[in-house]
Amino acid sequence: MSGRFRPPGQCPVCGEWVSKGAVACDDCGSCEKSGWSGNTHADGLDLPDDEFDYDDFIAREFGSNPARKTGVSNLWWWVALALLITFVLMALMPALS
Ligand SMILES: [Zn+2]
Repeated sequence: MSGRFRPPGQCPVCGEWVSKGAVACDDCGSCEKSGWSGNTHADGLDLPDDEFDYDDFIAREFGSNPARKTGVSNLWWWVALALLITFVLMALMPALS
């Protein structure tokens, strides 16, 4: 793995100083065995946020169909209605045999 943390240095999880030779962070308890699993700080810095246009993504994903959410709701209404009709038919026709 790249960027593997080795004391002394700042804990990659909580940012507390981990002294030389320490096997675990005194503050949050992360250790070498757990992989100092605090990659969030470095990942946050490395993410190319500028290249991802969220508004454009939303516009492309939902712009062509603004009623998408309403459509999903209507679908569930139809499903509920179908179930209701099924139950009514079962109640009216209890013995088809
Ligand atoms: Zn820590």
